[in-house]
Amino acid sequence: MSYAQDDQGNYLIPVPGMIHLAREIFSRAGCDDAEAATIATRLTGANQRGHDSHGVIRIPRYVVWIDEGRQVPNQTVDIIQDSGSIVILDGKFGFGQSLGEQAVDIGIARAKEHGVAITGLRHAGHLGRIGDWSERAAAENIVSIHMVNVRGSLIVAPFGGISKRMSTSPISAGIPVTGQEPIILDMATSTVAEGKALVALKGGKPLPGDAIIDGDGQLTADPVPLYGESATSINPVAGGGEGALTTFGAHKGSGLNFLMEMMAGALTGSGCAGGVGETEKRRFCNGMFSIFLDLKVFHSDDGFAEEVKSYVAFLKEAVPATPGGSVLVPGEKERMVKAERDAKGLPIAPDAWNDICTTARNLALSDNDIQNLVFKN
Ligand code: NAD
Repeated sequence: MSYAQDDQGNYLIPVPGMIHLAREIFSRAGCDDAEAATIATRLTGANQRGHDSHGVIRIPRYVVWIDEGRQVPNQTVDIIQDSGSIVILDGKFGFGQSLGEQAVDIGIARAKEHGVAITGLRHAGHLGRIGDWSERAAAENIVSIHMVNVRGSLIVAPFGGISKRMSTSPISAGIPVTGQEPIILDMATSTVAEGKALVALKGGKPLPGDAIIDGDGQLTADPVPLYGESATSINPVAGGGEGALTTFGAHKGSGLNFLMEMMAGALTGSGCAGGVGETEKRRFCNGMFSIFLDLKVFHSDDGFAEEVKSYVAFLKEAVPATPGGSVLVPGEKERMVKAERDAKGLPIAPDAWNDICTTARNLALSDNDIQNLVFKN
């Protein structure tokens, strides 16, 4: 198959075509059409914003997870406890892309009713790019904070240790700004998200030199110690090797990661990454503790937006650390990358693309079908 390539040899896949192909794959894998479309759009959306780690590179893994029963198609959230402004939800190991939308919509509705709301989502399948949930709330003029842990994912070493005791536990916050794009902070509490190690393993962007601690306690940019012998397979298993991801910001990132386990793991009832004395890994899921604040109960005028805009302008006036550089606010880089990729296509490393095509072929799509979907508008 012939696709345009960038100067690093990545294929440039058009955004609509990527969504068509991913949607077809998830339909054939057992998701109903609405869910298949949601997963396809959100995975592609992560690539559009430069978070390749949480994008279409996950397709082969998600399909394997359906086959193994680890992630269950077509689930809706159950309300476990409801006290009006606080709602605890169970996602029953469904797809995070659909469950996340449902949980956030409940949080938005309750915040509009009560001024403030908290949702605790337990047992969600992979929730993908957590910034999606902040963006969804910000579009409704709701400030939100989302704390997430990953039960059963022991791939991060706590500060001062080598052993895998933590997950990549992301946090995201969204600040709506009247008349402008929202400000979206979205970050793993590990030095890099696991998917970035997967991207590097598949020939994509290399890791920073302190991203991984190997079994001997040495810091390295090499992702192989994280995956061990599974590094060369179509579905590399993070945690399969002796190495671990490091937390960002030394002891401080390790502390923030710990907080995610308390809020998203213990408080929601989803469960922490692991527990003492356990000999088997817990079943994989995301827990998400979310806070929703309706702007109108804080400000009756445009004071918030004005202050945010003023502070952003003040921040961006900072003298750049490198000549020609600039200070970015959270979410700005993602917007810049999206504009470029929407125009040029999504750069996908050949290894990653081959794995996606193998998954498609395993679901009885021919090379011709794949090509037709990719070039469909
Ligand atoms: P990252 O390091 O690329 O970005 C983190 C934050 O820094 C973002 O808000 C970004 O806008 C900001 N940023 C980036 N460059 C900047 C610059 N030059 N100046 C100022 N700010 C800048 O993100 P990450 O930590 O690698 O996380 C990647 C993705 O992985 C996120 O979408 C996260 O939600 C997701 N994730 C999901 C899970 C899960 O279990 N579902 C787990 C871990 C991570």
